[in-house]
Amino acid sequence: MARQAYVNGRYVPHGSAAVHVEDRGYQFADGVYEVVTIVGGRMIDEEPHLDRLERSLRELEIAMPMSRAVLRMVMRELVRRNRVQDGLLYMQITRGVAPRDHKYPGASVTPSVVMTTRQIDFTAGAKFEEGVKVITIPDIRWQRCDIKTVSLLPNCIGKTAAARAGAYEAWQVDADGMVTEGTSSNAWIVTKDGTLVTRPAEHAILNGITRLSILRIAEEEGIAFEERPFSVEEAKSAREAFTSSATSFATPVVTIDDRTIANGKPGSLTQRILDCYLDYCRGLRQSGTAKGQPGKKARRAS
Ligand code: PLP
Repeated sequence: MARQAYVNGRYVPHGSAAVHVEDRGYQFADGVYEVVTIVGGRMIDEEPHLDRLERSLRELEIAMPMSRAVLRMVMRELVRRNRVQDGLLYMQITRGVAPRDHKYPGASVTPSVVMTTRQIDFTAGAKFEEGVKVITIPDIRWQRCDIKTVSLLPNCIGKTAAARAGAYEAWQVDADGMVTEGTSSNAWIVTKDGTLVTRPAEHAILNGITRLSILRIAEEEGIAFEERPFSVEEAKSAREAFTSSATSFATPVVTIDDRTIANGKPGSLTQRILDCYLDYCRGLRQSGTAKGQPGKKARRAS
């Protein structure tokens, strides 16, 4: 059967799935999204993703278009119809269709819901074995990067610059020279004394669901960690670096701009975190963010 998409209450062939030209997502990027990874047919961190989705909607005063239980049912049904074993589910909710006008329309406008899936071979390529390059670029985004909106043009510009430089990702840098995050991932380093460091989840970054799972794993494994900003210079002279997202897990970074990190090979702590995270995705360990809420401040493990 051909791949299907879900659009506003209907399962339709992916190739002809469409929304109205006056959908505010299309006109104003007035909407939010989530990407949930599927491993072995199971959605990873489904509840934390739905928590973050509801938070993004709340921040933008968009109504939740259906109950969480119904949303979950639709997600499962699409994964089932498309027989996804390994891949991702993309879900987008916009404010809905209304005559083009910047101000929010009235509450009678129904939010639009779109879902698609894609198969992915997570083992393809050598990024986990060899590590990747990132470049650094100025962070030109707005001041509410904690909301997962579909307004991603600066991220697209950054990711294109990375690809043109032969890099996997671009780490964005704020006006103080501190790394915020990647264009579609969170940034991490390991200091010389073995402490894991990532930027605190405030308005300057998206609080990654993978980020939260990694912090929990660090806590469980007794790995010291700090949530604090770090500079580009500190990253370049770090012992290890990696970048995390639902679809890239914890991808080792071995080059930042033109500087090789340590010996140019993925670091051992990164490898340990990746192994733990993959075990978690395969259901081989209980850790993760199931009990954690996005925004919950992680403690420093000692
Ligand atoms: N930061 C940005 C800007 C992102 O777009 C993403 C994922 O799309 C992430 C971080 C990582 O978030 P998650 O781990 O939930 O995939």
